[in-house]
Amino acid sequence: MTAILIDGAAEASTVHKQVAAAVGVLDEPPGLATVLVGDDPASAIYVRNKRKRCIEVGMRDLHRHLPVDVSQIQAAEVLDELAADSRVTGILLQLPLPPHLDAAALIDRIPAHKDVDGLTEASAGRLTLGRPGLRPCTPAGILALLDSIGTSLAGAHAVVVGRSNLVGKPVAQMLLQRDCTVTVCHSRTRNLADVCREADVLVAAAGVPGLIGADFVKSGATVIDVGIHRTANGLCGDVNGAVRAVAGVLTPVPGGVGPMTIAMLLRNTADAGTLR
Ligand code: NAD
Repeated sequence: MTAILIDGAAEASTVHKQVAAAVGVLDEPPGLATVLVGDDPASAIYVRNKRKRCIEVGMRDLHRHLPVDVSQIQAAEVLDELAADSRVTGILLQLPLPPHLDAAALIDRIPAHKDVDGLTEASAGRLTLGRPGLRPCTPAGILALLDSIGTSLAGAHAVVVGRSNLVGKPVAQMLLQRDCTVTVCHSRTRNLADVCREADVLVAAAGVPGLIGADFVKSGATVIDVGIHRTANGLCGDVNGAVRAVAGVLTPVPGGVGPMTIAMLLRNTADAGTLR
């Protein structure tokens, strides 16, 4: 078997067009406030891409760049200002923050209806309780990719490798809400390969290059590779190349989950505008 590759870039482009069309009929364009603290080069690239896409789909770019030595109080004041600004429909605090800042406390200053990253306590609570709200972008992108290929989720066994607040936990919740039987694995899980081999849908979000080998995958399973790692040979994911011979469907790295994360950010920002 050779896995069918899911084209995340094509799916993301479809979402961008849908968001642009939705934004085009609004009287007031939604506004995305990305907040970057300091000059970490990787974070700067991520934020630049988000701002570029935001402008492309007709939204306002209301970016704020704060100095690396900004105090907790000053950063909180900026977030409060953005929370009160009616032109700002979505606020995204780019992580990681410099170590002197309390990221959790700052994230929680973002009102739930502007939390386009879906990372506040309020958004996590809404997700867990199954109530409407803004969902974290990468997990939302994973579900959108699974839906784009008509994956049958009800009753499927989904195994999620990773339990971060950013990816593992929220994607497990979202799969549970779609009636999967969900197993969450982590760095202390015993017999990881055996557990993964039970999966109809396997989500690899451990942040370990090539962790998921062919012996972790049931023949014909759907495998979502969330990992992104820069190597001398380019980008790779958490899933080993040998998995292509075993999986039924697979997301490539690059070009799988990655492009969907920004697409879901744009969709969240457009949706957040309607929550005003
Ligand atoms: P994280 O480091 O916060 O969490 C990793 C999780 O994996 C932890 O819960 C840990 O227990 C688990 N884990 C680590 N080693 C393991 C092992 N050997 N076996 C089983 N579980 C193990 O990472 P994260 O923020 O959730 O991101 C995970 C990966 O996804 C990273 O490579 C990150 O770069 C990537 N990522 C990609 C996107 C995207 O847009 N494509 C978005 C977010 C994160």
